[in-house]
Amino acid sequence: MSTIALITGGNRGLGLATATALARTGATVIIAGRDLEAVRCAADGLLAEGLRAEPLMLDVASPASVAEAADEIGERHGHLDILVNNAGILPEASARGDHDFVDLAAFASTFETNVLGVATVTEKFLPLLRRSTAGRIVNVSSTMGSLSDQSDESSPYYSSIVPAYQASKAAVNSMTIGLSKQLAGTPLKVTSVCPGWVQTDLAPGNRDQAPTSADEAARIVVTAATLPDHAESGTFISSGGAVAW
Ligand code: NAP
Repeated sequence: MSTIALITGGNRGLGLATATALARTGATVIIAGRDLEAVRCAADGLLAEGLRAEPLMLDVASPASVAEAADEIGERHGHLDILVNNAGILPEASARGDHDFVDLAAFASTFETNVLGVATVTEKFLPLLRRSTAGRIVNVSSTMGSLSDQSDESSPYYSSIVPAYQASKAAVNSMTIGLSKQLAGTPLKVTSVCPGWVQTDLAPGNRDQAPTSADEAARIVVTAATLPDHAESGTFISSGGAVAW
């Protein structure tokens, strides 16, 4: 039976690259997103390659949408093997509001998507993941959220101050640690991943300046999504190995 994998924000960027890579391993990928036409189009692209893909309407910022999506996957498949919490935003990169430290509107929307979104999707899909024999949850985080890097003068991330985004990814990392403890003694594993600086539309200029293609970045997400049974849960990894919390 094919592995069932759901990727939030799977219609473009790193999410679509991850969906494609997972589908190429033989998984049935559920491309979840808030724009039905976009997820249909992305799924059609994979189907045209002969891969297994399904579209799913899922807005991580809407608890009702997430609950409906979980019910839908329960009806379609009865369980879920891989959840990739990928959907994320960085509105501070283009926010021009009048603020001293942080744009509060950007802070609220960042947390709604990047933090509450991850919590809501995880909570609603956990019952389906618990029915898997080897469930894996991947939280797409960032070294930008590493408290160690933010406070280490020798880190290349030290001079970056993007308060809402950094706090949101630190919160995601905290959820990874908490969830790994909650899931101890079960086959389920959860991992935070930093994909690197990736050529996507997350922030203006990323496509021209970032060194890593979405396909390359998807490799570490796939690694976390396909951890072997003996692997540790509750880690934070990048293509370079462990990332300091
Ligand atoms: P992207 O190209 O902007 O894609 C973001 C995806 O998230 C889109 O599919 C978008 O859907 C979706 N999304 C946003 N809000 C959503 C919502 N409420 N419900 C469902 N889907 C939603 O950015 P990306 O670079 O691929 O980002 C993917 C993840 O990687 C994010 O968590 C980001 O923080 C993380 N990351 C990226 C980088 C980088 O350098 N790019 C580095 C570190 C971490 P729409 O098409 O509907 O907008």
